[in-house]
Amino acid sequence: MKSKFRWQWWAVTLGVFLIVIAIFSVKLYADRHAAAMAASKTHAKSVSEHEAAVASSRRHAARKASKRHVAAVSSRRRAAAEASREEAQSKAAQVGQNHIAEANQYAYPVAQVKQEMDAPYTSPIKEKDAPYTSPIKEKVVFLTFDDGPNTVNSPKVLDILSQAGVHGTFFVVGKQVSPETAPVLKAEYDAGHAIGLHSMTHDYSLLYPSRVGATAVIENEAKSAQAVVQQVLGSDFRSHIWRYPGGHFSWKGLAAADAALSRLGLDWIDWDAAVGDALSPAQEPKTEDAMLQYHLRSLNVYPASNVRVVLMHDALGKDLTVKTLPRIIQYYRDNGYKFGVLE
Ligand SMILES: [Zn+2]
Repeated sequence: MKSKFRWQWWAVTLGVFLIVIAIFSVKLYADRHAAAMAASKTHAKSVSEHEAAVASSRRHAARKASKRHVAAVSSRRRAAAEASREEAQSKAAQVGQNHIAEANQYAYPVAQVKQEMDAPYTSPIKEKDAPYTSPIKEKVVFLTFDDGPNTVNSPKVLDILSQAGVHGTFFVVGKQVSPETAPVLKAEYDAGHAIGLHSMTHDYSLLYPSRVGATAVIENEAKSAQAVVQQVLGSDFRSHIWRYPGGHFSWKGLAAADAALSRLGLDWIDWDAAVGDALSPAQEPKTEDAMLQYHLRSLNVYPASNVRVVLMHDALGKDLTVKTLPRIIQYYRDNGYKFGVLE
């Protein structure tokens, strides 16, 4: 009985021992698993932190890139806006007129007038109020006055034109514009006359050395004359017409100068009627009748045309022109001409 009890005691002791070992094993496993889980969590956290960091850095980079893009786009837009503003300004300068708005009704583009002078009766110059299809072509005279402004004859010409109720075109010389003559120029413009450019110096030896056009000189004088007149008449003013001192036909090699003027928005025009006031003192008419006779003869020198561009001068000393002007105006009125200005 005693031995049987001993065997039982050993069995229980072994059982307890095995249970304790089992418990320990489980606990050890559990602890290790927990540690592994914690480590894995930490790793996962650090991975996700890394990913988050990468993503954030990517977002940041993307934002930076996007900011750069936006900056580049807005800089491009600013540049484009600036360019288009400059273009608009230059266009505005180009589209400025050489007369007040009220003169639109009797202003004719120089290109049309030249076309009619070169190929009579083919120009689009027609009755201004008639439908475009009308075959009626109107006769238009353009009274032009070169070499002003001055404070003596220019105001007299203005008075005569005003009394007759007609308008003309003044081809002004830049060097003639001064504080004294600026009000005369302004009066010409304000009264509805047109302003053309006639160089800065009117010096043949500078403009046409050896009778050949000096392109750079002509271009510079055109720019200066435009600027000088603009200073008096304001930024709305811009002339598109140019008369070569001495006339285009008098000189050689003007093709390059013509092109340079064209780039400045200027077109040149000569004349197809004259009163002889540019001749030498020995040749020029001495009386009003002689001047009228000269004028009539000049009409036969040039081809018959619907348009007459009359060369006259309002310079100092051209007193006979001023005296004869009312009769010149009367001649064109009697012969059914309208009075236009060149633009
Ligand atoms: Zn002249």
